[in-house]
Amino acid sequence: MSTAKPHILLYPFPDSGHIIPLLDLTRLLLTRGLTVTVSVTSENLPLLDPLLSRHASSLIPLLLPFPDTQSNRRRTLYRDLHYPFLLQWFKSHTSPPVVIVSDFFFGWTHQLACQVGVPRVVFSPSGAIGLSMFFTLWKDLPKVDDPSDVNSLLSIPNFPNCPVLPWYQVPQLYRMFKEGDPDWEFQRNGSLDNIASWGIVLNTSTCLEQVYIDHIKKQVGHDRVWAVGPVLPTHLTGHTDHGGPSSVPCHELITWLDACKEGSVVYVSFGSRVVLTSKQMDELVAGLEKSGVHFILCVRQPKEKQVAGDYGEISKGFEDRVAGRGYIIKGWAPQVSILRHPAVGTFLTHCGWNSTLEGIAAGVMMLTWPMGAEQFLNAKLLVEQLRVGIRVGEGSQNIPESAMLASLLAEAVDGSRPERLRAKELHDAVLGAVVKGGSSDKHLNEFVNSLYELK
Ligand code: UDP
Repeated sequence: MSTAKPHILLYPFPDSGHIIPLLDLTRLLLTRGLTVTVSVTSENLPLLDPLLSRHASSLIPLLLPFPDTQSNRRRTLYRDLHYPFLLQWFKSHTSPPVVIVSDFFFGWTHQLACQVGVPRVVFSPSGAIGLSMFFTLWKDLPKVDDPSDVNSLLSIPNFPNCPVLPWYQVPQLYRMFKEGDPDWEFQRNGSLDNIASWGIVLNTSTCLEQVYIDHIKKQVGHDRVWAVGPVLPTHLTGHTDHGGPSSVPCHELITWLDACKEGSVVYVSFGSRVVLTSKQMDELVAGLEKSGVHFILCVRQPKEKQVAGDYGEISKGFEDRVAGRGYIIKGWAPQVSILRHPAVGTFLTHCGWNSTLEGIAAGVMMLTWPMGAEQFLNAKLLVEQLRVGIRVGEGSQNIPESAMLASLLAEAVDGSRPERLRAKELHDAVLGAVVKGGSSDKHLNEFVNSLYELK
């Protein structure tokens, strides 16, 4: 094995749920001696600051233009802009990267990598269950008889545990696929390019998803599939931001949590993108109020550029009525620090994969309300297989009733639920995976060694 430092290109998709874990992976690779170029938007550049302060000589930001749009054509646009730019960049670089590690939304980088003669590694910010489901859908194109009926059942017999999913729980991007339409064919080809790529890095661990990791190996036909997660820092507690500056003073929030009993607080958040409708928000806050539990509620509002439509705001007087036991964050919450505080025992979540992992790593039980994408599968994993979750809602159109919410919330903070105990066991298992000699640590070393061999 060569000992010179390999230079690699990391290419994250610019949304929070994608770039946060890829930058966490960047930190792990930098500490293993690699030289890393990371392509970012100017908006995301500050996210590199903590890494740059420690690894200024081996971390190189590469600014790329990412037009700010939420349209379905977004990924095609990025490809049209970035492919020629990166091709030229590779050709003119005196010491170009030996590999491209890029988000699974950038499947086309497989073609770019082939053109410049380096391998491409897929980074999956989703779990193995989500990624292998995407592979199955895009490869086999299974259909339901009546796609206009959102409850039509899609059975997927060649998938571990043979799921049968109502059509509305199948990832939207796949449901909207129009054969022959260039933009949709682009999405499908991107996924097929992911399957054809040289390797895959998964932000998961064998103790969570062995069966799905094995399934991916079968789908791609090789073993260069490394489960290196959770990649989030193990030391993050107290007053630390992760993925963006907190919208509330962290010391104030932590002081508030310090005064709460161990395991008594429910943290409620639906990730970086989901915006509740007004009816959903009304039922949620009514449920929180009736439950009598202590809680932190993180509320997101639509971005200016998104079509606002119907979105929920906290009803008048609510904050006063729950004063002392409810802490409301409008904007960005320091989620990882909140979850890791001993006072927090329960997480009401939309089951985005990062939130799922962050909850598991913090040892909290989960109340699941998946909204879209592969979140229904993540919820299934949490509830049926890992047994650390209880279902409270299902889908972006669902309005769970406040009385039901209240009783589940109250029951959740009662320490006797078996999911609480199981969550502690799972916490120990994932932390065991990332420490020296654990399965994720070994996979990460194997991945890094393979990069040294590429040199
Ligand atoms: N996040 C955060 N504060 C917030 C909202 C989100 O720190 O107020 C982080 C969260 O910890 C996670 C990521 O943003 O790392 C969201 O990713 P996830 O996969 O859970 O959901 P998405 O936002 O992609 O739907």
